[in-house]
Amino acid sequence: MTPQEGRRAGQRPVWVNPLFGVTDPASGITSVPPRSRLPEGPTAPASVSRLIRDELMLDGNPRLNLATFVSTWMEPEAHALMGDMADRNLIDRDEYPATAELEQRCIPMIGHLWNAPDPDSSIGTSTVGSSEACMLGGMALKRRWMRRNAGRYAAGARPNLVMGVNTQVCWQKFCNYWEVEPRTVPMEGDRFHLGAEEAAGQCDENTIGVVTVLGSTMDGSYEPIAGICAALDALEERTGWSVPVHVDAASGGMIAPFLEPDLVWDFRLPRVASINVSGHKYGMVYPGLGWILWRDRDALPGDLVEHVDYLGGDVATFTLNFSRSGSQVVAQYYNFLRLGYEGFREVQGALRRVATHLAERIEGLGCFRLLTRGDQLPVFAFTTGDDVTRFNVYDVSRRLREWGWLVPAYPFPPNRDDLHVLRVVCRNGFSLDLADRLADDLHSLLPWLHRQPAPMFGPDAATSFHH
Ligand SMILES: *Cc1c(COP(=O)(O)O)cnc(C)c1O
Repeated sequence: MTPQEGRRAGQRPVWVNPLFGVTDPASGITSVPPRSRLPEGPTAPASVSRLIRDELMLDGNPRLNLATFVSTWMEPEAHALMGDMADRNLIDRDEYPATAELEQRCIPMIGHLWNAPDPDSSIGTSTVGSSEACMLGGMALKRRWMRRNAGRYAAGARPNLVMGVNTQVCWQKFCNYWEVEPRTVPMEGDRFHLGAEEAAGQCDENTIGVVTVLGSTMDGSYEPIAGICAALDALEERTGWSVPVHVDAASGGMIAPFLEPDLVWDFRLPRVASINVSGHKYGMVYPGLGWILWRDRDALPGDLVEHVDYLGGDVATFTLNFSRSGSQVVAQYYNFLRLGYEGFREVQGALRRVATHLAERIEGLGCFRLLTRGDQLPVFAFTTGDDVTRFNVYDVSRRLREWGWLVPAYPFPPNRDDLHVLRVVCRNGFSLDLADRLADDLHSLLPWLHRQPAPMFGPDAATSFHH
């Protein structure tokens, strides 16, 4: 369509730089593309690619995005490998047995990291991300409970799932989609995640499990998983209710095994039935990749597993998705081989040093109070000091954005929705130099903030964040 036709049809066509050869059949763009319909005919690849790159220029710089947990940098070799493998459908195990084999190697590698009882024959699968993995974990918990409580379920008992209010939105989705009552434990005082006694206190005979988080998205803190398991042990002794635990280790599953190998949060705790991680967070792969492992066959009811042929053999699958690129799994395997245990330990250790250093520098500015210090996940949350009245966290987020930094601000959930915080997520690619630069920029904008008569922005104006 011509621009005139587009305007007549009530829609603005996409703007094309004349240099790209608008209406020049030789270079390709023969008509201005409409916004919401297919163009009438084809266009040369170079012109379309230039046009699209122009439009995407308006995205923020992923490396300065301190809001996301998801990988924004990979080595050129991994980048190339992912491009080359984009044409392999991971589910076609018959046609692409070598890709399938790499997935089957990653699972026991992760099983070893998480101290699975029999790591070499770990049970698990790759997924699109932690959200899909959490759905699978929740479904297994529900099916296991239904089997053990068939009579009560038939008589109308409603299953419930216990978790902290800080859990990621995927758990609300799970409860909604699979008709499970969510029992969320609110924050209280300085407790910003699930507590052991609070978790046990919410359980009853219809509890399918407790979800605990290794690395809260709200503030980067680890929940007391061993303590929660101990409280559930005591509950079982008192009542006979055996409540399994799922650990949502979306971030921490690739941090704690390297930086705190002695912290007992994983399959070493007999009550832990399943664990998930996002390969695209601290597994350092581009989105979307997740993993989930189950303790044993008892934790993953067999009737949830479908069987597909694999070169005459039989491979069990348990996923919501079917077709998906093999790129992410191949990239995860690349990272495992490339870094090894020591390499991961160094990379994650460096991130933690960056996070704790930046947290200290921000504390040193004198007008902020740290809620966490980046010494668990390399993530920390902070708020304005008690004596700061002229600006709030939303003003800080807005001002930082002027320098290109994306640092989200948001209120905590109940019962601490009076508390508003900023959060910084350090990921591979965020160096000590960049961290110092951020602290310097924050320092240099403080005079402006102190000159404000009063806070200017509220939660509505905040940078959105992935939560
Ligand atoms: C990011 C995150 C999720 C969701 O993970 P995706 O991989 O983005 O689907 C779930 N739980 C926690 C704790 C997370 O941090």
